[in-house]
Amino acid sequence: MFRTNTCGELRLENAGQKVTLAGWVQRIRKMGGMTFVDLRDRYGITQVVFNNEIDAPLCEKANKLGREFVIQVTGTVSERSNKNKNIPTGEIEIVADSLRILNPSEVPPFTIEDDTDGGDDLRMKYRYLDLRRTPVRKNLELRHRMTMEVRRYLDSKGFLEIETPMLVGSTPEGARDFVVPSRMNPGQFYALPQSPQTLKQLLMVSGMDRYFQIVKCFRDEDLRADRQPEFTQIDCEMSYVEQDDIINLFEGMAKHLFKTIRGIELTEPFIRMPWADAMKYYGSDKPDMRFDMRFVELMDILKGYGFSVFDDAAYIGGICAKGAASYTRKQIDQLTEFVKRPQIGAKGMVYARVEPDGTVKSSVDKFYSQEVLQKMKEAFNAEPGDLILILSGDDAMKTRKQLCELRLEMGSRLGLRDKDKFACLWVVDFPMFEWSDEEQRLMAMHHPFTHPKDEDIAMLDTDPASVRADAYDMVINGVEVGGGSIRIHDSKLQAKMFEILGFTPEKAQEQFGFLMNAFKFGAPPHGGLAYGLDRWVSLFAGLDSIRDCIAFPKNNSGRDVMLDAPAALDQKQLDELQLALDLKDK
Ligand code: ASP
Repeated sequence: MFRTNTCGELRLENAGQKVTLAGWVQRIRKMGGMTFVDLRDRYGITQVVFNNEIDAPLCEKANKLGREFVIQVTGTVSERSNKNKNIPTGEIEIVADSLRILNPSEVPPFTIEDDTDGGDDLRMKYRYLDLRRTPVRKNLELRHRMTMEVRRYLDSKGFLEIETPMLVGSTPEGARDFVVPSRMNPGQFYALPQSPQTLKQLLMVSGMDRYFQIVKCFRDEDLRADRQPEFTQIDCEMSYVEQDDIINLFEGMAKHLFKTIRGIELTEPFIRMPWADAMKYYGSDKPDMRFDMRFVELMDILKGYGFSVFDDAAYIGGICAKGAASYTRKQIDQLTEFVKRPQIGAKGMVYARVEPDGTVKSSVDKFYSQEVLQKMKEAFNAEPGDLILILSGDDAMKTRKQLCELRLEMGSRLGLRDKDKFACLWVVDFPMFEWSDEEQRLMAMHHPFTHPKDEDIAMLDTDPASVRADAYDMVINGVEVGGGSIRIHDSKLQAKMFEILGFTPEKAQEQFGFLMNAFKFGAPPHGGLAYGLDRWVSLFAGLDSIRDCIAFPKNNSGRDVMLDAPAALDQKQLDELQLALDLKDK
């Protein structure tokens, strides 16, 4: 037997047993005539001891070991005199009687311990070494357990796991595609799927009824903090359902994951918040509901008193931070600097403190009487000790987004965004379209296959921008962890949707003819949703970035620094593909 036990397994009750372990040398310490080795594998760390008095040559061999050598050790489990309470195997050690070096190691570029001295770049370059570290490995173990539970849950609900192709056609809607040239069809390209959206809909036309897939999706977007060019979705679709059926089933899945993975029993139904309310009260379609601090609009109260910043504003709104009236001038200045950052873009911030006697002291006192300020206080239900923060601007949507950032910042400063607290909700009734300044046309907010609300369909002709969709997102702690919609299953309505999105009938036929034609052969009503696996895992692991729950992630410029990809192709490959490069920046 190569090993009788793992490095995480042996306890005091195993004392006296002869065992063989294999693993990596984490640390070596020499003390008196003894050499101690911390031996590590995926399961834990066990101390091995070599005694110079008992076996000098063996001890000498052990003294030559270096960090990350792979070794096999045989010896006897013994009670330790110096017990380590911090590790499960800390009461025992292995008194070695043989040592085999399975593979030596160069000095690793960083220490492979829970707290490492390696910077981000170095750890990415040697990701296989970083993965030996317990915190990183634990994230992958959590990910594994979550996918197992997802499969268990969906299987119990009658879902079939079906694979869809990775080489598909490029489509114009949505993000940019990653493309793959076809050697056998020179000059033609596949695209990697941004999501299996149309294919899962075709599976509904095929009668599969309930489909899921834990699937890689690819989007060539500029990377933001929480994005990777390839990421994993738990992609699902169901036939003969309404919005409530889907929401209930996937709320059930969320609760199942909370219970089995985090041991948290969520008994209440998740809040369902219309998109319009989310924007109005929180300035975001993914509000962090671990704390309320909702916006109060102040147009009626504060306009018309000669303070031109407010008098000229299209929106004035504020938040009330409980107990923050004690904020010093310096803290308030920091908040003002925060909202004035270019990424946020507010011009300034007005504040008001509610004093112990109930009077309100504001930074714009000279424009407002105590009477007006009291009215404002009432609008917030503010109490002595509270701090009111107000933003205004000439674009209501933009100002709300700025206020949203301020709300989140205050939430963090007041310790209201605890990673071990979870607030789940559904945002529903999304608008069907949003205006794109870049494209100068309406774009589908979710995607072009989303069904408009029945009661709004008549407005498609008269006022498309006001049409709401049967689309929903699940939001946890301010993170969109999934979203979906009821789909169009009528070829005529689908054709109309493409028309509103600016497709000519020919172009729509060319790009999406396969789907519209399929709808002519008895397509059942259907809908679905996709959960972002990476986001779920990082949420449960308390990570700031999805990168840390992916075995081999890309860096912020979309590079795999370990594989050094992307990279140039050699001329032979380009010739086979009949591709010639014409790079603008040579
Ligand atoms: N395919 C959609 C997405 O990737 C999710 C869905 O509508 O099911 O966002």
